[in-house]
Amino acid sequence: MVHRIHNFSAGPCTLPLEILQEVEAEFVDYQDSGMSLIEMSHRGKHFEHVYQTAVRFARKVFQVPDNFSVLFLQGGATLQFSMVPMNLITEGMRAAYVNSGSWASGAIEDAKIYGNVYIAWDGKECNYFRMPLSEEINLQADTRYLHITSNETIGGIRFLDWPEVETPLVADMSSDYMSRRIPWERFDLVYGGVQKNLGPAGMAIVFIRDSALDNGNRNLGRYLRYDIHAKKDSMLNTPPVFPIYILSKILRWMDGLGGLEIIEKSSEEKAALLYSSIDNSGGYYRCPVQREYRSIMNVVFQLLTLELEKMFLDEAALNGLVNLKGHRSVGGCRASIYNAMPRSSVEVLVDFMQEFQATHST
Ligand code: PMP
Repeated sequence: MVHRIHNFSAGPCTLPLEILQEVEAEFVDYQDSGMSLIEMSHRGKHFEHVYQTAVRFARKVFQVPDNFSVLFLQGGATLQFSMVPMNLITEGMRAAYVNSGSWASGAIEDAKIYGNVYIAWDGKECNYFRMPLSEEINLQADTRYLHITSNETIGGIRFLDWPEVETPLVADMSSDYMSRRIPWERFDLVYGGVQKNLGPAGMAIVFIRDSALDNGNRNLGRYLRYDIHAKKDSMLNTPPVFPIYILSKILRWMDGLGGLEIIEKSSEEKAALLYSSIDNSGGYYRCPVQREYRSIMNVVFQLLTLELEKMFLDEAALNGLVNLKGHRSVGGCRASIYNAMPRSSVEVLVDFMQEFQATHST
């Protein structure tokens, strides 16, 4: 039996065991080549096949229309905080941002360096515990795009319904990538780091509408231009071969499970299990997020006192349930239950929560 614990890390995080084992089996000698895949040229036939497989399954599983390019880029989602405004904001145009919490704030901070940026809705007044309704988003004239963060990994909130606006959307989907359907017709660009739902750290996937590729922004180093990456099939320079390799396997695995609809349903069920355990605890556990905006990837909750929270985390770890501490900026607890997190681990957590409550209630 392989030793595995229940790892609720927010990313990098639990990946499918069968994929890890498949990689282990072929890691040193890839397909009888006498070399590991990470020792080969990225221009060789083996990697070329891996790359094509990753693109093909990304298109299939994400249900991406033909008029979007798929780019595999380094620099994580954070580099996209800069590349999006650098490339998309053109002369005389501005960009709107929804400030929904920690990650949106990061995107706004960087975007302001490169263009005329304004905040179309700010969750500050409600302490970032909900997303805006479409009619609350204040868009100005000449707005090139509206940037949203579909799921706030730290705050544990998500857009249930995508904003209904005329302006093209750009979304950071880092923490709910590949867990829900994307209405492509409303988007010009979608990006996210892969280290939560899709693979190891070291890469972002960018889906960009072809008509948004060339904006005439020539004053950028080559790595910073989407049009060049698209022309070069993400091989302007040496691509992140290891993340692409794992990604190709995980996408195939997702396709084998039944694709996006099945994955979405399974995520909703796992999240419902956990939230109902919180809601049925008589206030012993409390989720601060307004119900309809609760993330199905990052479930945040609090206990009655900080002392109890600490005991909870310590005892959970002793029971093989790890990485349940909330982000240092907000405290509390957080269970990240991405695509590869087995339902059985969520059940173990729910049982543990009930047992802890029974033992520590006075
Ligand atoms: N956006 C969101 C929503 C995230 O959760 C994260 C990482 N946790 C980032 C952006 C930053 O991603 P990266 O570390 O890949 O740059």
